[in-house]
Amino acid sequence: MYKLSIYENQLERSINYMELFPVKAVDRAYYEERLQDFLPEKIFDVHTHVYLPDLSNENSGRTVTWPSLVANANPIEDLEETARLMFPGKSYVPLMFAMPSEGMDMTEANGYVSACATSTGYPTLLLTKPEMTGDEVETGILNGGFQGIKVYLSFAPAHIPTREISIFDFLPHEHLEVCDRYGLAVMLHIPRSKRLRDPLNIAQLLEIERKYKNLHLIVAHVGRAYTRQDVGDAFEMLRDTKNMVFDFSANTNSWVFEQLIKEVGSSRILFGSDLPITRMRMRRIERDGIYVNLIPRGLYGDVSDDPNMGELDPPESDKLSFFLYEEIEAMRQAAMKTSLGRSDIERMFWSNAISIFRVGQK
Ligand SMILES: [Zn+2]
Repeated sequence: MYKLSIYENQLERSINYMELFPVKAVDRAYYEERLQDFLPEKIFDVHTHVYLPDLSNENSGRTVTWPSLVANANPIEDLEETARLMFPGKSYVPLMFAMPSEGMDMTEANGYVSACATSTGYPTLLLTKPEMTGDEVETGILNGGFQGIKVYLSFAPAHIPTREISIFDFLPHEHLEVCDRYGLAVMLHIPRSKRLRDPLNIAQLLEIERKYKNLHLIVAHVGRAYTRQDVGDAFEMLRDTKNMVFDFSANTNSWVFEQLIKEVGSSRILFGSDLPITRMRMRRIERDGIYVNLIPRGLYGDVSDDPNMGELDPPESDKLSFFLYEEIEAMRQAAMKTSLGRSDIERMFWSNAISIFRVGQK
C-alpha cells in the first residue's frame, strides 16, 4: 500500500511536470468544491489572447516583468491545454484576439489569430490601431474572417497624455461604423484613471449605444471597476442601455458583480477569462482604494515597485490558487447573493455569447 502511494505520487508529479503549469491539490479542491457544479457544461470565454513568443524581447536580457513570467506566449495549443487543465469535464469555446503591445508587428499577430480560427473554428477579433482607415478595418475583418475588433488605449496618438486618453482616440467613429454595418463586436477596455465612474467614459459609452445600434459593444473587465470606489454612479447611468454588454474577465470583485447583476441583468453579462494572465496564482484584496494581487513570494520575479502586487509566504502562499478561479468564485458568490438561477448562469457562460458569435467546425 505504502509503495503504491509513493508510486502514484511520483507518477502524478511527472505528469504535472509535463503540463503547461502545475495544477496542485489546492487547485483541484478549489475547482471540485466550488466551481465544477456552478459552471455549466459548456463554457464560452469571450476574452482570450493568443500570441507567439516575442523573440526580439526575450533576448534583450532586460528584467522581465511579472506578466511575462505568468506566460510569455499563448499559442492556441496552450490555450486549449489551459482549458483542459482548468475546466476538466467541460467543453470550452474561446473568442480569441492578439495581445496588444507597443512595437508589436500587428499584421503578423492578426495573421496568427486568423490562422488559429481556421484550424479551430473559434471566433476571433481583429486587433486595430486608430490610424487605420475604415476601409482597412473592413478589409482586415473580411479577409481574416474576424467577427469584430479589439481596440487598445496604448495605440492612441502618442501626444495624448495617458490620463487624458478618451475612447474615441483609439476607437474612431469610422471603425465603429464598419462594425455597425456588419453587426460585429467591439471589445473595449475603457481608459482613464477613474475607470467606469469617469463621466467622459460614461458619456462616450452612451454615445456609442445611441449611434451604433447594430454592433455589439463589449465593455471589458466590467469597465475596469476592480474596487467599490471604481463604480460610482456608473450603473445608474448605464442601467437603461439595451445593447452594450459587460465581460467580467480579470475581475474578482464580488460586490461589483452583484451591482452589475442587479442593474444590468444576466442577459448582458458575459464570462471572459483574459487568459493567459489569469493563470497567475493569486488572491486579490483591496487596500487604500486600490487592488493588490497577493502572490507567492518570488514566483513572478521582483514586484517590489508595483503598488498592485503583494507577496505571501508559506503557509499562506500555499493556499493560493488561480486568478481565473478567484474570478469565477467571485461571480458564484454574487450569483448566490442575487439568487440567480441555472438559466442565468448558463446565459452568462454560454448563450449570451452564442447570440453574438458564430462558432465554426474544426
Ligand atoms: Zn485582455
